[in-house]
Amino acid sequence: MTDRNTSDLLIQVAMRAEALPIIHLLSLKPIGRMDPNLPSELWQGIVHGHCISLVTNGCDPEFDCDRIGTESAAIVAFLALRITRPKLIFNAGTCGGFASQGATIGDIYMPTRFLFHDQRVALPKFDAFAKGEKTTADFPKIRSATNAKHGTCSTGSSLDTTVDEMAFFAAESVTCKDMEAAAIIRVARDFQTPFIALKAVTDLVDHRQTVQEAFLTNLKFATGRLADAVDHAARVFSAV
Ligand code: SAH
Repeated sequence: MTDRNTSDLLIQVAMRAEALPIIHLLSLKPIGRMDPNLPSELWQGIVHGHCISLVTNGCDPEFDCDRIGTESAAIVAFLALRITRPKLIFNAGTCGGFASQGATIGDIYMPTRFLFHDQRVALPKFDAFAKGEKTTADFPKIRSATNAKHGTCSTGSSLDTTVDEMAFFAAESVTCKDMEAAAIIRVARDFQTPFIALKAVTDLVDHRQTVQEAFLTNLKFATGRLADAVDHAARVFSAV
């Protein structure tokens, strides 16, 4: 077991199904819960010479499914950053992509701009806070090691998309739609920890096939691609 109090890299993943291919590929060992009051689970290992911690949001005991979404993402990010004190945090996960922006299933995105698409507060200052727009530095070595595309990630609390949100995505040139990234980067900023999102496309938001159908069909393929990308990123991590 590694020292859970210092990690080089923290990888936060919402769903167990997204995390398992990464855990297997990196041979991470289960450590258990970070806190008895939270279902979030921690795995650790030494990978390519670096101490890596991976946390999932955990399975909700009442609803018996992964705790996807912004609330759990923020709580787990806070706790995991506090416990593992990493040099860098990755949010590895899946996302909806946009055919109109050139996405295909299994593409890996490493966005450098993040916002929320379903938080609207028409009051001075609170409007910008609600939209939560943040940009990150690019990490060219990680981008080329993962062959990741550039883009903007927009986070919300629903898997489906409303007509208004579609207009928002077009106006903001959104390339990835997810349910966690903008919440995690907010917490990472509080800890002054650099943040990278690696997102594999499971479904195309602007395609005929329903997002739910595409997500379930493509989850295995996309999470395999995601695990490879995380492994390649961990390899060049020291060069960041
Ligand atoms: N139906 C799935 C649940 C997927 S929920 C199941 O039963 O297992 C969506 C999760 O994948 C979230 O964690 C989110 O970050 C990501 N995601 C993938 N495609 C998405 C999309 N089109 N919109 C929003 N989130 C998406």
